Parts: sequence; C-alpha cells; structure tokens
Amino acid sequence: MDARIKTDVMDMLMEVGAEMEDMGLVNTFEGNLSVLDAGLLYVTPARTSKKKLNHDNICVFDESSGTQLSGGKASSETKMHRGAYTVKAGVGAAIHCHAPYLTAHAITHVPLDFRCHPELLFHFKDIPVVPYAMPGSEDMIETARPYLLHRNLVLLGNHGVLSIASTLALACQRIVAAEKFARVMSIARQIGTPVDIPETEIMRLLARELEQ
Ligand SMILES: [Zn+2]
Repeated sequence: MDARIKTDVMDMLMEVGAEMEDMGLVNTFEGNLSVLDAGLLYVTPARTSKKKLNHDNICVFDESSGTQLSGGKASSETKMHRGAYTVKAGVGAAIHCHAPYLTAHAITHVPLDFRCHPELLFHFKDIPVVPYAMPGSEDMIETARPYLLHRNLVLLGNHGVLSIASTLALACQRIVAAEKFARVMSIARQIGTPVDIPETEIMRLLARELEQ
C-alpha cells in the first residue's frame, strides 16, 4: 500500500459506512462516502455494501496527479465528491445518500424549513432542493455549488441528499438529524399543522454563524 494512505481514515469510512447501512441510509447500490485528507481522496467503491468496506476496496486517489493509488472501481458519484471539496474552505468529508424521508422531499421538490424547530433552525437554517442534474455527472456538484456556499446539506432534486462537513462523523450526523426531522414533520402533518416560532426568535437564530 502507498505509504501516504492512512488506515485510520479508511477505518473511519468503514465505521461510518457500516453505521449508515445499519440505519438504512445506504446500501450496496445506494450512497457514497468520501474523505479528503492530505491531498488524498478516499471514496467508497461502486456496488459494495458499506458493511463490506475494507483497506483493499476503499478507493484512494492522489488529487494532485489524479492517479488512483488503491481500491477497486470508485463510486459513480466520485466527480460530485471531488467537486464538493472545492465549494468552500474547511470541507473534509462528503456523504451522498438516498435517506428515505429526505429523498421523498427531493423527489417532490419540497424543501425543509425549520421555522417550527429552533435547534434545527440554528444548525441547518433550511434545506433547499437543488434542481435536477444527471446522476454521475459533474453537473451534480455544479448545480449544488451555489446552494452549498451557505449551507452544509442540500436535497438533490429527484435524487437524494448531499452533506458536507469538516469530518465524516459530522457529515453523517447532519443526515441523521435532517432525516429524523423530515420524519417528524411527516408525522406532525398527520396530527395537525406545524406552528412556527415567533419571527423575532427566528431572526435571532439566523444571525448566528453556522459551524463548519
Ligand atoms: Zn444517488
């Protein structure tokens, strides 16, 4: 193995990938995770269960030369992952998946707003729907780019969700929290009408800085 490849980065991908598969957020055919560390892009392989990731099948690219150093056939969304690290400073990990409730919003082009939930309003501000782009193409990240400048999680129209963060664990936890909220809203609308918090409180929360 190339001496620059860090096994602890691979271990993190294995751990978070397996957790997400256990939660039903990814599977063999859906979802891909990546980390950019010291100029190397680590990305999950195509058509592989995220519970079967290992030091041999995780794909590693030297981003300065573009050469693949390790692993099998990389995820078809590698172009989107590669582009995600150029959106803004501080991005160290990216996760794309088809989480069920978030994907339902992506398919119906119904954005999520958090005006009824102060804690999530602070963390997410809102979760917009990015216009449809061809899966696997560079258009995916170019369409999402303007939305990601001021947010860390977006819905990809007719497709799924993209989460970027400083760490893989944080990118994952944002999806978990957003997916849970989308589920809560689905239940809430069956019970009644969600009630927004007062506008003055919304403005106070939105004035705070997002953590990277
Ligand atoms: Zn996808």
